[in-house]
Amino acid sequence: MKKKILYIEDNEQNLYLVTYILQKSGYEVVGARDGQEGIAAASRMRPALILLDIQLPVMDGYTVARKLREAGQVAGVPIVALTSYAMAGDREKALEAGCTGYIEKPINPETFLAQMEQHLNERPSPGGTAT
Ligand code: MN
Repeated sequence: MKKKILYIEDNEQNLYLVTYILQKSGYEVVGARDGQEGIAAASRMRPALILLDIQLPVMDGYTVARKLREAGQVAGVPIVALTSYAMAGDREKALEAGCTGYIEKPINPETFLAQMEQHLNERPSPGGTAT
């Protein structure tokens, strides 16, 4: 069965690019345009990994990660934040919010798949939040 990736992203270009890269490599990708939609999708599907943009409408990525971890539906599922290179503090905040790792934006199509697959094998501590 294809591994499912949930990608929460409001930027059409990134959504298109990442979906293309992952589908080409045999993943199933479900896209969500904001945090609320993403949280709903996470509980419907059983994603192998969640890619999470930080700058999102409605609620930011930190809030989304926190809510996902609190709800406990995605315990054991890696959440990878997409953080902008310029914003150094983003990474720490993302990890504090319950993300397991991060990938820097802008996305590099040549290395993105390898970066993501590395995170796919990084399990968060069982049952929970990395506080
Ligand atoms: Mn964004």
